[in-house]
Amino acid sequence: MKVLVLGAGQLARMMSLASTHLGISVLAYDVGSKQVINPVTFEVKSTTLEQEVEQSYAITAEFEHIPEDVLNICQQSGKFFPGAESIATGGDRSKEKALLDNAHVPCAPYALITEKQAFINAIDELGLPLVIKTCQAGYDGKGQWRLKTPDDAEQIWSEMKDFLDSGTEAAPHSIIAEKMIPFDREVSIIGVRARDGQCKVYPLTENQHTNGVLTLSIAGKEKAAIQAQAESAFEKLATELNYVGVLAIEFFDVGGQLLVNEIAPRVHNSGHWTQQGAHTSQFENHMRAITGLPVGSTKLVRPTAMINVLGQPSIPYTVLGVQNCTSHWYGKESKPGRKMGHINVSADNLHELGERLAELAELLPEDDYPGVSVTSHALI
Ligand code: ATP
Ligand code: MG
Ligand code: MG
Repeated sequence: MKVLVLGAGQLARMMSLASTHLGISVLAYDVGSKQVINPVTFEVKSTTLEQEVEQSYAITAEFEHIPEDVLNICQQSGKFFPGAESIATGGDRSKEKALLDNAHVPCAPYALITEKQAFINAIDELGLPLVIKTCQAGYDGKGQWRLKTPDDAEQIWSEMKDFLDSGTEAAPHSIIAEKMIPFDREVSIIGVRARDGQCKVYPLTENQHTNGVLTLSIAGKEKAAIQAQAESAFEKLATELNYVGVLAIEFFDVGGQLLVNEIAPRVHNSGHWTQQGAHTSQFENHMRAITGLPVGSTKLVRPTAMINVLGQPSIPYTVLGVQNCTSHWYGKESKPGRKMGHINVSADNLHELGERLAELAELLPEDDYPGVSVTSHALI
């Protein structure tokens, strides 16, 4: 079977690496360069999108900001999972909020902004501080403003206006203002929905972000009550979208109550731990679901942590000397802050996981790998 992935980054690469033993071969379509690429060897093919769509058994996507004409070509083939609507919902925060409201899944109070009066009303109605986000095109904390005092409103508005004005009639831009949530921590749920509607959900993951980018995740420490809340949200949203494949949902944990931050209609950075810590990785399960194969167990094998490698020129190979530690390198050109790879580390229990993280903290400078040391102390 051949699968085409829209987007040719590390997620396409890891989907490909998880597919070989299933007898599935993967090619990726880079929507920027309009080239078909092998996401493991980076070999460029001479075929077109249309030819690959024709030849593929199934089509999927590794990110949500995909031009509408590309989505349409894939959707018309009848082989595109999770499909154009799910991808478009994940790529537009106004559609995403409408989905949450329709499915009765709670999120931060918000207001949609397309002109200045709506912005003034939002400040009045929601109160400060606000997190303001472009509805289209944002990721890794880009396309966001924090409005903390009324004095900054004018300056932020001028930047918001530039974004609103850069939309077109066919593809209008909008902005969302959300109440800033004083959360205790951030968690996410990764789950898979098969073509027959069966859902399987991984254990909740706790996530740490630094400057809007995920830096560290831990799986295997959650209580049943909070897991049940996340699973219920997953089933409601996946069902509402008639979803097929892996879907990620990010939450704020506020005193044990989960509020959805956003969804990602794809495999997700906070699910990378499943490569070592779960029976079936998120990548394999996504490929199984979209090709109509039975999905595998999402149960935890061992508590596992994932550390992102950001902006480094190579893998810090010394970490491989730590027991049950593996590295995953994406083969991309190094740029400051760019996701270059990740490290997974597993242990038989949380205390031991803390000890492994303490060993890693000795090898990984705090400035480049924030949170490893603090997390190790919290677990030991
Ligand atoms: P991603 O790379 O996860 O797709 P993104 O650019 O879509 O990131 P968000 O996840 O919406 O951005 O926001 C980035 C981070 O900003 C969140 O993980 C959280 O730490 C913080 N944040 C976002 N919205 C809020 C909010 N309403 N209240 C408090 N913090 C927030
Ligand atoms: Mg996002
Ligand atoms: Mg996010």
